[in-house]
Amino acid sequence: MLGGMQDWELRISTLIDHAAREHAGREIVTRWADGNETRTSWAGIRHDALRMVQALRRLGLRPQDRVATLAMNHSCHLVSWFGAIGAGCILHTVNPRLFDEQLDYIVNHAEDRVLIYDAAFQPLVERMRPRWPTIEHYICFDSAECAPSFEDWIGREDGDAQWEEGSERDPAMLCYTSGTTGNPKGVLYEHRSTILHTMAACQPAVLALEPRSVVMPIAPMFHAASWGMPWACAATGAKYVCCANNDPATLLGLMEREGVSHVAGVPTVWLSLIQYCDARGQDLPPIRQALAGGSALPAAIIERLMRSGVRVAHAWGMTETSPIMTIAYEPAVWDARDFDAQVRFKALQGRPQFGAEVRAVDLDDHSRELPRDGKTAGALQVRGPWVIKRYFKAEADAVQAEGQWFDTGDVAVIHPDGTLQLTDRTKDVIKSGGEWISSVDLENAAIGHPAVAEAGCIGVYHPKWDERPLLLVVRKPGMEVSAEELRAYLSDKIAKWWLPDAVEFLDELPHTATGKISKKDLRAMFADYRLEA
Ligand code: AMP
Repeated sequence: MLGGMQDWELRISTLIDHAAREHAGREIVTRWADGNETRTSWAGIRHDALRMVQALRRLGLRPQDRVATLAMNHSCHLVSWFGAIGAGCILHTVNPRLFDEQLDYIVNHAEDRVLIYDAAFQPLVERMRPRWPTIEHYICFDSAECAPSFEDWIGREDGDAQWEEGSERDPAMLCYTSGTTGNPKGVLYEHRSTILHTMAACQPAVLALEPRSVVMPIAPMFHAASWGMPWACAATGAKYVCCANNDPATLLGLMEREGVSHVAGVPTVWLSLIQYCDARGQDLPPIRQALAGGSALPAAIIERLMRSGVRVAHAWGMTETSPIMTIAYEPAVWDARDFDAQVRFKALQGRPQFGAEVRAVDLDDHSRELPRDGKTAGALQVRGPWVIKRYFKAEADAVQAEGQWFDTGDVAVIHPDGTLQLTDRTKDVIKSGGEWISSVDLENAAIGHPAVAEAGCIGVYHPKWDERPLLLVVRKPGMEVSAEELRAYLSDKIAKWWLPDAVEFLDELPHTATGKISKKDLRAMFADYRLEA
């Protein structure tokens, strides 16, 4: 027997249709890098997105062709999301903080045909252009000086077009993650996975969005779809406020003027906002909810926000999980807890939202599910309709079977009430201010120095960036090299912001039974290591 309900593909175009129909005049505010402020509305975004659909078709773009953006958060970037996806293309948000080898790799791997970029990235585009043979059309979001401007490009069209029709399982958006060793990997979101994640994310126990909400996602649009905030704002008709730079004074001024209620950012951003206010004896703007994720949110920040009456939503997720999986929303027993217990709860990574499943398995061979006892740490695995099944262009044997769990590379304890507590990582990476540094690539670069016998790199706590690299080096017998000489040697081999903050010299490094450097032991040895701010 068939069910009796209508056929309704869960397509991203239905989101913008809804926003433009039911919340037509609700504003989208942009503060541009040059200080200029512009306003449009959900109806305006839809009209411009339809003009972009026409412009893409005029260029000969076909469904599933890749359209890349290299841009900060602004309304034209938002138009390009609905426009590229509405034309049936796959939107690829390129992270401008990647270094040249990664930028080279991902654009060629994605086979992007169009690149739409901010004028601020013109030097990067100039530099990379010879290495990006697949890109046929360059368009600039905010200037007509070096390439056709976005406004002129879509300005020739009248918006009298239809969205590309198709299946809800069609791909819609491509985000690369460099959160592992080797080349970055592409995560290909579908229309369906995006809509389901959006519907879940708007819930009161997740982002708590509603038509009165005024949302400022500081999380960049090139990082896991700005955590899904643009989609969730369209679904609820929230006002959307974006800023093309992350300077605390500008962000706080904008929050105050626009009546921002919901803000999303990595802990480093929260720290800089709080430090700015505290240094001036100034109150935080009256925001209602602070969403934080990407790395662990320190208790001191949580306490400061809660004392200002802000609801703290500490979330855990990954690019591979769309991204939100768990969030520290208030449990039924919340009001019975004292303030300190509430802060402690919010410092954990929260409980799964409906649609997300998490479990911890033994670290040795992942064959045994561990008890939710709040004590036993294991490899964190997840599954659900917005969790990755295969990376973009992965070999057929790398596709997970039905119902299989995805290995996150994080190590966690699960408490009896289902609360997740991240304790470590098995992946060899360091997360600095929300961006990844590959410890293996750093070690390989260090090993190239003639006086280095062995090098191990770990992340250590840093008060501003959460983690920074510490390089541990064994010198070759009878050879000398100083920390400064090593940093100078590395400076043209890795991105500047990857340079280790400190180098320590040891007689030997700890090894595992299979002869690999034991990062676990190194982390334990340097657990109390303190870097200067
Ligand atoms: P990305 O794919 O770049 O968003 O990075 C995902 C990774 O960031 C996770 O696998 C974790 O290692 C880390 N992460 C994300 N959220 C948190 C959190 N709330 N606490 C600690 N680590 C986090």
